[in-house]
Amino acid sequence: MSSQNRLVHEYDKFLDCVHCGLCLPACPTYTELGVEMDSPRGRIHLMRAYADGRIELTDHFEKHMDGCLDCRACETACPAGVHYGSLVEAARAEIAEKRPRSVIDRFLRKLVFEMLLPSRFRLSVAFLPLRAYQALGLQKIVRILGLTKLLPSRIRDMESMIPVMPDRAMKGQLRPFMPARGKSSHRVGLISGCVMNEMFTHVNTATARVLNENGCDVVIPETQTCCGALQVHSGERTVAESLARRNIDAFEKAEVDTIIINAAGCGAQLKEYGDLLAGDPAYRDRAFAFSNKVKDVHEFLAGIPVNEEMGTIRARVAYHDACHLAHGQRVREEPRDLLSLIPGLELVELEESDWCCGSAGIYNLTHPEMADRLLVRKMGHVRQAEPDMVATGNPGCILQIQHGVRRDGREIDVLHPVELLDRAYRLKREEANNV
Ligand code: SF4
Ligand code: SF4
Repeated sequence: MSSQNRLVHEYDKFLDCVHCGLCLPACPTYTELGVEMDSPRGRIHLMRAYADGRIELTDHFEKHMDGCLDCRACETACPAGVHYGSLVEAARAEIAEKRPRSVIDRFLRKLVFEMLLPSRFRLSVAFLPLRAYQALGLQKIVRILGLTKLLPSRIRDMESMIPVMPDRAMKGQLRPFMPARGKSSHRVGLISGCVMNEMFTHVNTATARVLNENGCDVVIPETQTCCGALQVHSGERTVAESLARRNIDAFEKAEVDTIIINAAGCGAQLKEYGDLLAGDPAYRDRAFAFSNKVKDVHEFLAGIPVNEEMGTIRARVAYHDACHLAHGQRVREEPRDLLSLIPGLELVELEESDWCCGSAGIYNLTHPEMADRLLVRKMGHVRQAEPDMVATGNPGCILQIQHGVRRDGREIDVLHPVELLDRAYRLKREEANNV
């Protein structure tokens, strides 16, 4: 496809925009910067001007497209139903294809998006130095001695974002088939992801156990791969398309009724495979069928009779709405409803709970200054809510808020809601065993 066509193809979506500006107060980058071109309306104006051939792909154009969080808060606010997410993603694909890049930039993009994320083996190898850094106690020493202060601030922030890596052996708990506890009522597939599989193995195992607890046989196809969300957000659509095809093949073979995802950003992407592969006659219908089966784990659980036999967790829990769950998938009440089932748990509202925390895929690495402004705003609300824990359904948000908590010197657990459900089920079982 020629570069011009990508945005021309989206032209009907530009026409949906009536320039009312109701999306402006919902846009984190506009709110922070007060610049029209950093608002949804301004970005749409730029994209349309480019599609009309009135402007070129300039640094100015790229800067405003790259500055977008792709948080999709503007879609929630827009009364005209403008599909902004697909517009900015098309613009980024255009930029990735057409704009000149340095050799280093091209190499890094190839390394991360094409070589590491899609390969479980290579990704696992890439994480080994980080595991060694923690296992040998170097991270503790570096932090106790304050050696990170010697690092440039960007590297220091990245170091502070590193979570405690889960034990590699935990991956063994995720078997290709994990039967329901008791009577089986559903056969579901689980997306175990790329980074999720390495850094958040504990969330995946908790998800599988919670599903088992609720009458689900869980199938985890070994041939599945990265969902392609980070690639699409970065304009690497061709790579994302090939990953989507691999996932469709893998889950068709698994013959599952539903495909479960526990990471908001990945879920939003998986639900859009139909659009991603709309130009591929061999996969278009299969991609729509795949996307129709995808459900966020909270969305799925809220739609079935949930086992309410749970142990008590006495804690104040603030729920942060991940952008791609609240705005991208319109899943808001389900996680709150599920958390409210846990005896003893007090759900406290977080002001601006659906305002981006600054994580936004790899945005906190590419735009650390804006990401930090948003994190500071988020942490102000967290302090006000005084929770013992913050729960959120996206790994990037967990890392970002953990980073904020650590920097604030607070003792607040930041975790995924399924970890709390899993903990509640296990407590119940322990209680029963002790009787
Ligand atoms: S995107 Fe929607 S809310 Fe924003 S200016 Fe256009 S029509 Fe109005
Ligand atoms: S996706 Fe988020 S950052 Fe981008 S224009 Fe919309 S509201 Fe603003």
